[in-house]
Parts: sequence; structure tokens; C-alpha cells
Amino acid sequence: MPRFLIIAAAGSGTRLGGGQPKALVPLCGRPLIAWTLQAFSPIAFSDVVIAAPPGRVEEFAALAGSGVRVVAGGDRRTDSVRRGFEALAAGDSDLVCVHDAARPFVTADEANAVLDAAERVGAAVGATPVVDTIKRGAAGRVVSTIERDGLYAAATPQAFRAGILRRALASAREATDEAALCEALGVSVAIVPLSRLSFKITTPEDLEIAQALLSRRLHEERS
Ligand code: C5P
Repeated sequence: MPRFLIIAAAGSGTRLGGGQPKALVPLCGRPLIAWTLQAFSPIAFSDVVIAAPPGRVEEFAALAGSGVRVVAGGDRRTDSVRRGFEALAAGDSDLVCVHDAARPFVTADEANAVLDAAERVGAAVGATPVVDTIKRGAAGRVVSTIERDGLYAAATPQAFRAGILRRALASAREATDEAALCEALGVSVAIVPLSRLSFKITTPEDLEIAQALLSRRLHEERS
């Protein structure tokens, strides 16, 4: 079953600061996107496409090296994924994995589990069970406490039969992930539990945690 990979890397990184695209932020001496690509290297994909910030395509292509194509992303994450998808020659029953460049700690086992679930069900989302008590608030006051049981934080990888993802992306709805576009179409989406290390690097604190984790791993590899 042919498998394809889209890496959404066109985010500006505004919440991270630093004035450069988030995927280029250095982490232990290499740009974030390089670590994310490395995480997927054990998996054989027919094609890998990165959606990069428009105007930075050549820079990303030089970083990604051979065998990885780079296209210009769009204003919203879904636009970037759509552009990546349009660059693939995927048949309807092929599997397409979508991953955020900002989640470098995904493992190949996790990505394979998501792809396998998508092969069985048609669509699958990697997610972590919510461990905190979640409250809805307004104007600095608690409005309500949300029952935690059965709540998940959606992450990536997400994976889809290409025919389903094509329909989802064509629906032109606003959504923060592709699984939500599928849900809106009434498509059943499998949940695949991920380690909490699948967190998305969003803020300077996340970057600090990622640095510490990677430095420890690199130190252990050397000793
Ligand atoms: O902004 P956020 O952190 O939710 O972005 C999640 C992922 O989507 C990041 O890897 C980011 O680079 C990507 N993205 C994108 N195109 C956009 C916005 C975000 O590819 N327009």
C-alpha cells in the first residue's frame, strides 16, 4: 500500500518569538525540521512533501536534501496541507500521513500505528488522553468544569486514505486539523494514543523542554 507524507512547516512561529519560521528554529545545532524529518526516516514513503513558508522554499529544499520535495504553504494550516496534498500523485486508496514540523519527538512506531489505523478505518488521528482537569472560563472566572473522561488532545501524525483526505480538503471548511474536516463529513476517525512526547513546540518554554530532552538523548548516545 503506497504511503505518502506531508509535513506542515509553513507556520510563522510568532508565539515562539525569534523572528524566523518555527521549523527553522535551531534545536541542539540543527533546525527543528531536520529532527522531524529524521523521526520519519525509518518509514518508506513513496513521496515526502514539506509545505514551507512562501518565500523560503529554496532554503527548506536545501535543508531537506534529495528525495524530499518542498512546496509553498498557505495562510492557514489547512491551506498548507492542501498544497502539499496537491503536489502528491496519490491514488484514492493510498495512505497519506500528515505531520506538524513542530512535533519532532514522534516515533516511527507511533507513525506506523496511525498509518495502520487509517488503513483499517480510513482516517486516524494521533492523540494524547487529557490529564489535566479542564475548565471553561470567561472574564477571568470559571464558567464550568468539563468532564475529563474520554477527552483527548489531538496531535499529529494523522493519516487518511487519499480519497477521504481529498474530499475533506475540498470541503473548504475552517478547521485546526484534517481529522476535524473528516469528522464534519461524517467520516469515522480512529484515535491512536501517542506518548506525551508528541507535544507541539509552540512557546519558548516548549523549546526549552525540547532542548533539554534532545541534549540528554545526544549525551546518552555519545556515552
Ligand atoms: O500554528 P500551529 O503551531 O498550530 O501549527 C501547527 C503546524 O502547522 C506547524 O508545524 C506549522 O508549521 C504548520 N503550519 C503550516 N501553515 C500555516 C500554519 C501552520 O504549515 N499557515
